[in-house]
Amino acid sequence: MVSKGVHGWAASHCPDCGALMDGAVSAFDDEPERPRAGDLGVCTLCGALVQFDRGLRLRRLTNLSGLSTEDLLGLLAMQEAVRERHRLH
Ligand SMILES: [Zn+2]
Repeated sequence: MVSKGVHGWAASHCPDCGALMDGAVSAFDDEPERPRAGDLGVCTLCGALVQFDRGLRLRRLTNLSGLSTEDLLGLLAMQEAVRERHRLH
């Protein structure tokens, strides 16, 4: 599922926990290697739902109503995986 790490875009901070996010991985093999404006994500430290803005800075994702069911379920699964990982450590 997660296939490759991506670096080279301007680092940004998680809008919830402030963690420096300087890398990303795509959840799907057929996605481009670099994040694009509007791409969705999950902070790997706190599980916050985030979205890349036009400057590829991370913004808190607050409006879930515009997401497809597939995107929403994918995000929630990633969020749960992050939280489960932290429960195990
Ligand atoms: Zn965070």
